[in-house]
Amino acid sequence: MLDILFPKVCPSCGKASLKNEKLCKSCLSDIRFINNWSFCGKCGVPFGFFNNQAKHDSELESENTNNLFSKCIKGNYSFEKARSIAIYEGSIRDLIISFKYEGKLSYGELLLEILKTNFPDDLDEFDSVVPVPLHIDKLRHREYNQSVILASGIAKYKGVQCDLFGLKRTRDTIPQIEIRDEGERRINVRGAFSVATDKSYKEKSVLLVDDVFTTGSTSDECSKMLLKSGAYKVQVLTLTRARAM
Ligand SMILES: [Zn+2]
Ligand SMILES: [Zn+2]
Repeated sequence: MLDILFPKVCPSCGKASLKNEKLCKSCLSDIRFINNWSFCGKCGVPFGFFNNQAKHDSELESENTNNLFSKCIKGNYSFEKARSIAIYEGSIRDLIISFKYEGKLSYGELLLEILKTNFPDDLDEFDSVVPVPLHIDKLRHREYNQSVILASGIAKYKGVQCDLFGLKRTRDTIPQIEIRDEGERRINVRGAFSVATDKSYKEKSVLLVDDVFTTGSTSDECSKMLLKSGAYKVQVLTLTRARAM
């Protein structure tokens, strides 16, 4: 009844009216899905998409046959592999921003739907899903952790346990997206996370979930902690992949 009086409008553009679909055609076609690219087998970065990778791509062709980004050949990451669904831009970026910072909690369902529908088919089995935690101060301010919504939805979808408080932030950090230098990003998150004292990931395969992957420093730092706590494998799933500035 309410739908007839107030036709639903697309949450992304706020213009097109919707029937059963959750996003209008134009906003949906605006999303660039990473599985349409070839991407690094380890960190999942789509080759040739981010400007500063042109050099690495040519190195890649000459140096290896395993389809790995040059940085990953050197073995920089402690996670097994990272995958993202779409590029952090346009309509999906707007949805994430409204979801995170403007209290549009209902967008979580839509973002989760996008994550589930496009769930990567090359992730290995996992026993536990853990969200990247927010610092308590940010949590108080924002009132919820967007990664929790994505992580618990994925756990439910895959029928595995979700450890909402498996990891905690031990100190606040500057949002990674605001830092240009990769070395500084690493320093920003070093020692910023720990596994909750009552938790152990002994002999567990863990899926770490977040909304945005930028250079992977946060995911890497969280993965290190999970491995230290006994996990034999950590994989990373993020809804989007951002260009490092
Ligand atoms: Zn739209
Ligand atoms: Zn890589």
